[in-house]
Amino acid sequence: MSSTALPQHEQQAIDSVPKRLLIGGRWVDGERGTLAVEDPATGNTLTEVADASPADARKALDAAVAAQGDWARTPPRERGEILRRTFDAISARADELALLMTLEMGKPLAESRGEISYGAEFLRWFSEEAVRIDGRYSVNPAGGNRLLTMRQPVGPCLLITPWNFPLAMGTRKIGPAIAAGCTMVVKPAEQTPLSMLALAQILGEAGLPDGVLNIVTTSTAREVSAPLIADSRLRKLSFTGSTEVGKALVSQSAEGLLRTSMELGGNAPFIVFEDADLDAAVEGALVAKMRNGGEACTAANRFHVAKPVAAEFSERLAARLKELRIGRGTEPDVDLGPLIDNIQRGKVSELVEDAVARGASTLTGGSSVPGPGYFYDATVLADVPTGSRLLSEEVFGPVAPVASFETEAEAIASANDTQYGLVAYLYTSDLKRALRVTEALETGMVGLNQGLVSNPAAPFGGVKQSGFGREGGPEGIAEYLSTKYVAINVD
Ligand code: ADP
Repeated sequence: MSSTALPQHEQQAIDSVPKRLLIGGRWVDGERGTLAVEDPATGNTLTEVADASPADARKALDAAVAAQGDWARTPPRERGEILRRTFDAISARADELALLMTLEMGKPLAESRGEISYGAEFLRWFSEEAVRIDGRYSVNPAGGNRLLTMRQPVGPCLLITPWNFPLAMGTRKIGPAIAAGCTMVVKPAEQTPLSMLALAQILGEAGLPDGVLNIVTTSTAREVSAPLIADSRLRKLSFTGSTEVGKALVSQSAEGLLRTSMELGGNAPFIVFEDADLDAAVEGALVAKMRNGGEACTAANRFHVAKPVAAEFSERLAARLKELRIGRGTEPDVDLGPLIDNIQRGKVSELVEDAVARGASTLTGGSSVPGPGYFYDATVLADVPTGSRLLSEEVFGPVAPVASFETEAEAIASANDTQYGLVAYLYTSDLKRALRVTEALETGMVGLNQGLVSNPAAPFGGVKQSGFGREGGPEGIAEYLSTKYVAINVD
């Protein structure tokens, strides 16, 4: 795709970012030249970044391995203060970083600002966790021995992140890894490397020692990461992305029994009972569906609404979605940006067409927006029949399919009728029902009368094919620590 001149402030935001690989504290070229980063709102090339080869990635791991010993011995307070300074620097530069994110990912500036703040909060949270890594001392129940447990950094990590939250998906791994005393190689998504490169630069300015964080951008993710996963010096893999790739990575990790954390796909049900506050449910639906343009693993993928209120809910949601202004995320007052690329837009179209062919009715939207960029209308489909692919596959776009149910048991069964188990949203004003249904939902997270669950202080993660491991909260740092137990003879 061609490059066209960008407004000066946009060009400045792009120019300010290093475009090379970060290995052992040095910015270096990739052996394979460069790869293009596109503006999804226009399809134009924004810039080029280094394209790493497997040999480059190996050098990045060498650097992480070389830095591991000293980093693990660095006082926790120092590690925490580097994170805290980075939090402060990101907060101070939020507008410029938001612009960069919007350019490479497409979401409106207000959403990018939201992610900058959310992403930075992981660094603040883990700066506070760095000094709370503790152990235990106890007396053997039978007397005699003493039992000491200590928690130590797991060692060099490979962190692979997706394009939908270019900063936050990085900071929720990098934050705890730094706090725990681990070194790392980070491989951001090829579509959105700029936010990660900017973060690496800020971490360096905040005092992160050379080699602790190494960045490898590449157009050949599998080729570059497989040898690292097979390398016995690597001790941990944390991945956020599709279930399909996650399974392949777990299988590669089995050979060396590498520790893994997997944040994979979702297919979140959004359940509205007849007794729910419908105003709140529509507002919550808007957030759960439209945050990040629906390109989130936590996005409400399907709405299960009690029959007596299903039509009203669908119409009210459609009315709200109709008001959204679509456009390039850098423009003022835009609510919905483009999808990330044409492949993603093709998937969204296919799922909508399937539901409509089966008899769903389109209340609003339902098609791609003509012209440059990868825009798709905000869409509400009512009376989506059982068997529609939209109800079982992750749509990753601004499409809300609504199906109705008659009983609580049917709602629970529909919600759980999926391979995924990341999050479910539940609207009811009946306390007993709220707890009953929450307990029955097969997910790692539940939004109860709330359309947003993400919070750096809370354990984010799924069950079933949504993966395992938790990011955020006290659980988040545990993923980067291993426990050593010492049996002490005191006799
Ligand atoms: P998405 O569908 O959101 O693009 P992917 O799972 O394809 O999700 O990508 C998430 C991240 O995983 C990206 O950084 C991508 O480059 C990387 N990735 C994709 N395939 C592989 C693979 N086979 N091995 C390692 N990383 C991969």
